[in-house]
Amino acid sequence: MSIQVELPTYSHFINGERSPASTGETFDVFNPATGEAVARVSKGTVEDVNRAVDAAHAAFEKEGWRDMPPAERAKILFQIADAIALHKTELIYLESLTSGGTVRRIAGNDIMMIIDLFQQMAKFVQSYPFSETLPNPLFPGPAHNFVWREPIGVCAAITPWNMPLLIASWKIAPALATGNTVVLKPASHTPVSALRLAEIISAVVPAGVLNVVAGSGAEIGETLVRHPKVDKVAFTGSTEVGRGIMKQAADTIKNITLELGGKSPNILLKDADLKIALPGTLFGVFLHSGQLCESGTRLFVPRSIYDTVLEQLAALTQTLKLGNQLDENIGVGPVISQRQKETVLDYIQSGIDEGARLICGGKEAVVEGLENGYFIEPTIFADVTNDMKIAREEIFGPVLCVIPYDHIDEAIEMANDTIYGLAGGVWTRDVNKAYEVARKIKAGVIWINDWHMLRNDAPFGGYKQSGIGREMGKHSLDAYTQLKHVHTSMVPELGRRVAYGLLMTEAKKSE
Ligand code: NDP
Repeated sequence: MSIQVELPTYSHFINGERSPASTGETFDVFNPATGEAVARVSKGTVEDVNRAVDAAHAAFEKEGWRDMPPAERAKILFQIADAIALHKTELIYLESLTSGGTVRRIAGNDIMMIIDLFQQMAKFVQSYPFSETLPNPLFPGPAHNFVWREPIGVCAAITPWNMPLLIASWKIAPALATGNTVVLKPASHTPVSALRLAEIISAVVPAGVLNVVAGSGAEIGETLVRHPKVDKVAFTGSTEVGRGIMKQAADTIKNITLELGGKSPNILLKDADLKIALPGTLFGVFLHSGQLCESGTRLFVPRSIYDTVLEQLAALTQTLKLGNQLDENIGVGPVISQRQKETVLDYIQSGIDEGARLICGGKEAVVEGLENGYFIEPTIFADVTNDMKIAREEIFGPVLCVIPYDHIDEAIEMANDTIYGLAGGVWTRDVNKAYEVARKIKAGVIWINDWHMLRNDAPFGGYKQSGIGREMGKHSLDAYTQLKHVHTSMVPELGRRVAYGLLMTEAKKSE
């Protein structure tokens, strides 16, 4: 006898309540470690998007939310942080179950960063210059001038599957901190944790301020980007979809923030402390099975230490524990889907075909008891040249390309020879050399003797085709506000209004 267990169902979250799709349809969400369906989620329609945008628009237009005093808004942001902390076990579980991210990472990093993010935003808004007074000008006469920073309006947040909660929070926190309202479209692989996050946050914000519609990017995402009542789009995902969003947003001249792909260079100098640099390199590329946009996927190594580095990297890689992401002793989980697994394996094959040398990994991994899961062995290629496909395209899987160099100028030239510019790094004991390399790498974040060290008070975003705009830090508040100049004349007599004389010559003479 087989027992059928009903899957938990998650609806959209619109105007402060759960809301099924207009058609009643759902789609399944899977655990990438087993390939089994674990939840059923409302399948969004254009009508659902319209309802969510209307709710967000009404919440924005209604008095109270967008013009709330910063001190009061800070209290709400602190309450959001507390509410997330209260529900963190459930959120960690849902996030790990559906994204394949290890519980070890999500509990040890992501959830704490999210709580801290809302707390930081609460602090930032209290000193943020929502209104600044300019000095009195000599010309065209005394006047009082303000620069106000006002919310933009309805913000569409479109997010990927790799770190669903963290990346959604990078958009929701600054948007709410500055008085905007949000419609979130999470990735179809991972809508569940975001839907719960919205419910948790909505317990402390007015109805309509935060809405979530799940469903296909091509349909829901595009409808949001083109929607006339959506004022801003904040997107994280592939550069390809980012390009499309930029074009679609052009029709309504939308404010956009794009956080896109990367092919980040990691430069090892001859004097690097290999005891830290090599584990750091693996941390930089294999965390979350390489499915992080700022992963250090191209390692540049001086030819004089090349063989030693390869040997030690291969040995260290063997110590990584691959398996069920829900087991807290596991460091490397599955990739997100069968399709992603095939894409990564195709890239590995292309590396072999183009003449790169496999020094470890290179095939799918079979984990006992999880034979239907999407696991790939952490893979390292030696003798990669910077023009190979594996060195040029974002693989988004556990694949490291090691490229030898003779002179640091050559390494920097190769490091910058990419369409991307999200992150970069250098390992050395010489601080002057480190800063020189940091200055020369064209990327939005540089790690010296470290990797993945994002902070809630520092900006994150890309140079070149890795994106537009910055998230996190006070800078993210700038991305969710628009500037308004307000001028008040302090000249009561018409005769002293010098500027008016530019037009009214007679009036000036007759006075
Ligand atoms: P996408 O860029 O396709 O998806 C990211 C988000 O955009 C998802 O919510 C997706 O919805 C949505 N979307 C898809 N198409 C459109 C569209 N036409 N208009 C508006 N929104 C859309 O990433 P994938 O998930 O397909 O991953 C593909 C590759 O992208 C990866 O292999 C990796 O190289 C890169 N990537 C980069 C990330 C980063 O952090 N920079 C994160 C994720 C992926 P839906 O899920 O329904 O398709």
